[in-house]
Amino acid sequence: MKILIVEDDFASRKFMMDYMSKYGECDGTVDGKEAVEAFMMAMDDEEPYDLICLDVMMPEMDGYQVLKAIREIEKEEGILAKEQVKIIMMTALSEEKNVKKAFEMGCSVYCNKPVDTNRLEDAMKKLKLL
Ligand SMILES: [Mg+2]
Repeated sequence: MKILIVEDDFASRKFMMDYMSKYGECDGTVDGKEAVEAFMMAMDDEEPYDLICLDVMMPEMDGYQVLKAIREIEKEEGILAKEQVKIIMMTALSEEKNVKKAFEMGCSVYCNKPVDTNRLEDAMKKLKLL
């Protein structure tokens, strides 16, 4: 599968890139703006991502804004719900209101940080990516 890792923190990004590379081809972006660009580029190339691991706290464009932008682009392109990219939101913020907000905005699964790889694997199974 094709995976996009969106994470502003170098150590977290490196960890995710290394860990997720056993599941597929990984690209990494350092901020939200770059993430939306990578998403659009992959779609234009007709090789869209299957999964986006999306950090929430990022400067300028945060994870919620990226999520919103991606779901809007998919809507404009007429992409069916079942064909939408799976998005796992990664965050240290585990308050219920944040979880609720992310789901309302079209996030597929929510993972707390620091990342528990067993839970991440469970999340991918739940999304039928594994
Ligand atoms: Mg961050």
